[in-house]
Amino acid sequence: MNIFKDVKQAVDTREVAEVYGLEVNNSGMAICPFHDDNNPSMKVDERYHCFACQADGDVIDFVANYFELSKIDAAKKIAKDFGIEYQSVGYKKHKSVKQIKRPKPIRKEISVDNEFNKRIPTYNNILCEYKVLLESYKTIFKPSESDDDLHPLFVKAITNLDRIDYLMSMVNGTTEEKILVVMDYGKEIVNYEKIIRTIKSRIA
Ligand SMILES: [Zn+2]
Repeated sequence: MNIFKDVKQAVDTREVAEVYGLEVNNSGMAICPFHDDNNPSMKVDERYHCFACQADGDVIDFVANYFELSKIDAAKKIAKDFGIEYQSVGYKKHKSVKQIKRPKPIRKEISVDNEFNKRIPTYNNILCEYKVLLESYKTIFKPSESDDDLHPLFVKAITNLDRIDYLMSMVNGTTEEKILVVMDYGKEIVNYEKIIRTIKSRIA
């Protein structure tokens, strides 16, 4: 373990960026601080990615760029400001011979590639199905004039459709966006699949 790992495990980019004054909207988008941005072009969650200037990285990269610090100083700042305990500052000294000799994880990269290729079409199908489901909620539970309260499923549809459109644009976007989807939103999309399956099993 080192300070970089400790910090990244303890906090994500969004919570840190918000504490440092970045405004993140309900869709997880923010005005990018790294270029002259008018509309929120930056997606901020575990990591950050700007679709306009391609600024991209993890929480430490964000703070390093935001405050113009080195990575190690950025990590220390986050640790201090967020009360994160970390094991060693001079992490380089702890690099054992074993670690230095460890071969590059080439195999891992290949397996990521394979999984990546398999997952993208699957994710696209899940998102399409989930979108159809939300669209149906939007129609079925549309409030009539006499309704005082909005049906929760109508609210769910309204609040989630933008999110699904965003994820679909990522899944059908550049390689970089696809990688981001697999890395950061895989769990979320798999969760949508579970919802779809549960509903299908109820209907059957
Ligand atoms: Zn930007």
